[in-house]
Amino acid sequence: MKKQLLIIGGGFAGFWSAISAIRQSREIQKRGEVEITLVNPHNRITMRPKLNELSFEGLRFELDKYLKPLGIHQIIGRAEIINPETNEVVVSTASGIRNLNYDYLILAAGASLKVSNLPGIDHTFNVDSCDNAQRLEDHILELANKGFSDEGASTFVVAGSEITGLETVIGIEQKARAIQAYSSGSKSDFRIVLLKSGNQGASQFSKECEEYIRYVTASKNIEVISNGELTVIGPSSVLLNDGTRISTRTVILTERIVASFLTHFFKGAKDDLNRVTVNQFLKLPGYNNVMAAGNVVHASGDIVHSSLMDRQYAQFEGRWAGHNAINDLFNVPLKEYVQPDYMPCVDLGEPQIPYANDWERAIQKRRYKERAAEKHMNLATMYPWLDVEETVKVSYPEVPKF
Ligand SMILES: Cc1cc2nc3c(=O)[nH]c(=O)nc-3n(C[C@H](O)[C@H](O)[C@H](O)COP(=O)(O)OP(=O)(O)OC[C@H]3O[C@@H](n4cnc5c(N)ncnc54)[C@H](O)[C@@H]3O)c2cc1C
Repeated sequence: MKKQLLIIGGGFAGFWSAISAIRQSREIQKRGEVEITLVNPHNRITMRPKLNELSFEGLRFELDKYLKPLGIHQIIGRAEIINPETNEVVVSTASGIRNLNYDYLILAAGASLKVSNLPGIDHTFNVDSCDNAQRLEDHILELANKGFSDEGASTFVVAGSEITGLETVIGIEQKARAIQAYSSGSKSDFRIVLLKSGNQGASQFSKECEEYIRYVTASKNIEVISNGELTVIGPSSVLLNDGTRISTRTVILTERIVASFLTHFFKGAKDDLNRVTVNQFLKLPGYNNVMAAGNVVHASGDIVHSSLMDRQYAQFEGRWAGHNAINDLFNVPLKEYVQPDYMPCVDLGEPQIPYANDWERAIQKRRYKERAAEKHMNLATMYPWLDVEETVKVSYPEVPKF
């Protein structure tokens, strides 16, 4: 009987896990002895880093384009329960509940925005998923169709000043202008507000980087409210913790992101982002048949740097997880995960873009060519090769030097 490798999640980590597992099972000549199944709620992978961009072009592609020719089974559904003691996963699908057994499991279900229960939370928007980004766009189109003339219609409030918050607040005016140009051709004055919470915010950046962010936000007339916490959200205004009222119909939440609830089915420590801790092979301590990759993981152990919730980590961790899961199934030595190079970029719009080196928290101010480099990196490393077999070839677990 074939061994069953089950992958939960078809994002960056899950997709590359599946492709890498195929490559490695061929490499050790066990392809015929293992069945690989990927569970994802839909037959699409979403390029989440593009969700706050002006255009949604190339935002998604079909998983089946790669999975089918490689003989990877896909189940469209959502894992609801994992029982690691019996190696079973309960999956809800359109046609009912399915119970899946596995010999090896890769958990790659990602992370999502943890929506609080603040009064009026239903009035908020986010760019965490394709559907939500589309909902925001539809909302702006509705405001534009009324000429942004209703109370608070021309004010956009972005809550959270991590990378996603910064990129969103920088891009939102351009998005509103583009939608307005499309809908009416007129030109409104917009007010853009960034709520920088006390405990997160730009503090993750170096001092120099923070200074630069201040310079860019000021030059773009973005009002930054430090320690600005939302307390009540209404349809046309919000109230902050210091009593400030802002007229707005568009509040975009960008923090806080937490790992999938599925991590709770495994014993062992979770970090404050709800992520499981793994060993240097991305294997869950205490289990002999579970790997985890992507936003569900806080990689530690022999790894020099802890992983961030970032695509760059997710797609390489996926390559490692698939490779190591196959090796573990067939008693081949595992490959230690390393992420020696990491280059997060914050796109602060034209004309400048700082590179925030995560390890040194240093920033190098550069100009157009760096912005082009960021775009290039996202495009060049985010998408798989058009050709399926070329994609398999590049799934070997190694991190390119940036
Ligand atoms: C607006 C925005 C901008 C970003 N910009 C950048 C950037 O510029 N650079 C960068 O590196 N990163 C960026 N990121 C972060 C990056 O997108 C994530 O780090 C990356 O998507 C994580 O990959 P993943 O595979 O772990 O999770 P995901 O890509 O989220 O994939 C998880 C998959 O699992 C599926 N899933 C969830 N629950 C279940 C379940 N119960 N059963 C089955 N399947 C399930 C989901 O539907 C999804 O398909 C951005 C994110 C956002 C939202």
